[in-house]
Amino acid sequence: MLKIYNKLLNEYGKQNWWPTQTSERQFEIILGTILTQNTSWNNVEKAITNLKNNNLISKEKIKKVPLKRLASLIKPSGYFNQKTKRLKVIAKFLEENPNPCREELLKVNGIGPETADSILLYSFNKPYFVIDAYTKRIMQRIGYKEDDYGELQKLFQKNLPKNYKIYNEFHALLVEHAKKYCRKKPLCEKCPLKSQCHYFKSSA
Ligand code: SF4
Repeated sequence: MLKIYNKLLNEYGKQNWWPTQTSERQFEIILGTILTQNTSWNNVEKAITNLKNNNLISKEKIKKVPLKRLASLIKPSGYFNQKTKRLKVIAKFLEENPNPCREELLKVNGIGPETADSILLYSFNKPYFVIDAYTKRIMQRIGYKEDDYGELQKLFQKNLPKNYKIYNEFHALLVEHAKKYCRKKPLCEKCPLKSQCHYFKSSA
């Protein structure tokens, strides 16, 4: 696992996702983890820019802003009516639970394992490895048999130092790798992982 991490780090360099941690930034990250459900990050950025331009990056303000106004501001992220309700719910939840554990987060409506772990890792610097569709695709092509969210997460967490910075960086590198080489239709010839990739060896 560390071999994969080092190869990707060597290829792409540090990604430095979400490095600064003011309380406003912390909440912005949480908003991002919900807005990014079922959409691309470009769309999330547009929605977050709208929220910033309207000075709404705070739990209190998200709680108070009228539903219709919030929905229109986050429209670029898609599923905006559903996400409006989720933002309201998470803002209220975090006011009551400022330092939540995973189990508590998973009880919140609209928060599944990927969103919960993204919140814990990126906003609270807790060591939970985030598994997304890109991570799943790459690991399965390389040849790992683990299939579901929990199994894949265990695989990373068992084989890496328990360090949120490594989890953060590794996940960002996997996303970069999925975009650059390990696409739906992979570009294997120049891939830095091809020497250890089952998919490449079996299709060569
Ligand atoms: S060799 Fe191909 S399938 Fe394997 S990780 Fe690289 S791009 Fe993905």
